[in-house]
Amino acid sequence: MAKPDGRLTHDLDPNDRPPRDACGVFGVWSPGEDVAKLAYYGLHALQHRGQESAGIAVSDGRRIVVHKEMGLVAQVFDEPSLTALRGDIAVAHCRYSTTGAPVWANAQPTFRSTPTVSIALGHNGNLTNTRELAAMLPQESGFGGLQATSDTDVLTELIAGGAGADGGVEEASARILPLVRGAYSLVYMDENTLYAARDPQGFRPLVIGKLSGGWVAASETAALDIVGASFVREVEPGELISLDERGVRSRRFAPAAPKVCLFEYVYLARPDTTIGGRGLHATRVEIGRRLAAEHPAPADLVIPVPESGTPAAIGYAEASGIPYGQGLVKNSYVGRTFIQPSQTIRQLGIRLKLNPLRDVIAGRRIVVVDDSIVRGNTQQAIVAMLREAGALEVHVRIASPPVKWPCFYGIDFATRDELIAGRSSVEEIRAAIGADSLGYVSLDELVAATEQPNGSLCRACFDGHYPVPVPESERGKSVLEPVTSLGQHDNVSTRRMPAPLRGGHNDRYHSRLASASQCPSASATSRLLRRRPRHRRRRRERPRRRTRHTGRRGRRSALPFRRPAPAAAG
Ligand code: SF4
Repeated sequence: MAKPDGRLTHDLDPNDRPPRDACGVFGVWSPGEDVAKLAYYGLHALQHRGQESAGIAVSDGRRIVVHKEMGLVAQVFDEPSLTALRGDIAVAHCRYSTTGAPVWANAQPTFRSTPTVSIALGHNGNLTNTRELAAMLPQESGFGGLQATSDTDVLTELIAGGAGADGGVEEASARILPLVRGAYSLVYMDENTLYAARDPQGFRPLVIGKLSGGWVAASETAALDIVGASFVREVEPGELISLDERGVRSRRFAPAAPKVCLFEYVYLARPDTTIGGRGLHATRVEIGRRLAAEHPAPADLVIPVPESGTPAAIGYAEASGIPYGQGLVKNSYVGRTFIQPSQTIRQLGIRLKLNPLRDVIAGRRIVVVDDSIVRGNTQQAIVAMLREAGALEVHVRIASPPVKWPCFYGIDFATRDELIAGRSSVEEIRAAIGADSLGYVSLDELVAATEQPNGSLCRACFDGHYPVPVPESERGKSVLEPVTSLGQHDNVSTRRMPAPLRGGHNDRYHSRLASASQCPSASATSRLLRRRPRHRRRRRERPRRRTRHTGRRGRRSALPFRRPAPAAAG
């Protein structure tokens, strides 16, 4: 587990987490540039999309080196680790888990090496036929040697395995991607080429940018801005782009059937990002305007729930003519701590992170604007806080329709039972959170605010119409993580992960530097590994026995460790 950094998580209330994006991906091909540092800053710009783990893979044309770890980007990388990542191409990833547990083995970029090629891959999204794809792997070798329990690992194995034939990774991708269902915005590389691919629906964003001497692919345009790349265009749904010294090659592996995630417009993506030609800050302000027209309120002041409700509150104030102000102050330096709070502190709940400005609130009728309601605990606490601060009335306005359905396309939502709108009417929710009134923007007005063509957006979490079917067996994070040791599901036999892959506190000892090409590079890359302090070495004994070693005592192998051969095939 990463060290606490004292910085804020997005979550105001750990028991009422907002929807979290599954990941951010970033890739750069730029010979002569310090691609690892470009990737580092790109990942920083995408940190909001994944805060569980981070990783960067770099290729120098001969071998790929991957460095990944649990934690935030700034915790995972430092100057020496970035300096050691030398090359011309980089792929970077920050992760929230949607398939596979939040453990080191599932951190990305994932890596595979075959006798003919090595690849490192970063994935944003969530596949909906993971077990079907896993069944395509050679079972006699332990499903092709899966090293983790994520959908991404299966995909990496399939592409690497298929690249042995003529045409390498590009042709293998063109054969395999049409078989993959669900959400995937991919950035990956072999030793010489950077690839970017997007599923036929284009659920998650993916853009291409130009550097003076190279190319960048990233989840959001904001990441292009941060590294000084100019926006070229979005990767189209169903498109595979290859970037290398031969230039840019585009091929379509499936017809486009756009269903871009509507929630990216509401909350997930940065406000300074552009999707489908529409700036997200402007979209969110427009949502606020439409919310005001649909749900006016007799009030003296409009305040946002910082920071997610800010643009919509600005729009609401603009359209309603009610003054806009700051009524809640967010503490940006509390939250990511592993210190167990005392009972007294625990009872403070959301007050650890939000504090009302009493002289602004007292004696006024308040409209408070937020982006969405998940369980309702956060809004209930905010309403209570505003009343205690002296608000005469509290009117809650929400810049999205009621979230009634879970997402299976790469957003870590609550389950349907946990979603308050999945089981309660608007009036029941109003009563539960204690507001004087409650209004949600309608789905039609939300879609209109995005200025996207009708029918080109996924809105399943609002209306329950899933554009790509999601089999029951593919719902949930643990598709490849059976509880029992030799599970058998449908046609896919699975087995229990060996302890180092299942997570737990020992995972940190398996990390640092992950993998290099299968070969002599092991010793070269292992010099980057950090030795544990002498007084802690005894505790390392157990996990060390589970990893492959380079033969030098005290050094960890730079080769990806493999599962033992299965005792039985389930
Ligand atoms: S279900 Fe909701 S969060 Fe998931 S992709 Fe569709 S619109 Fe986005």
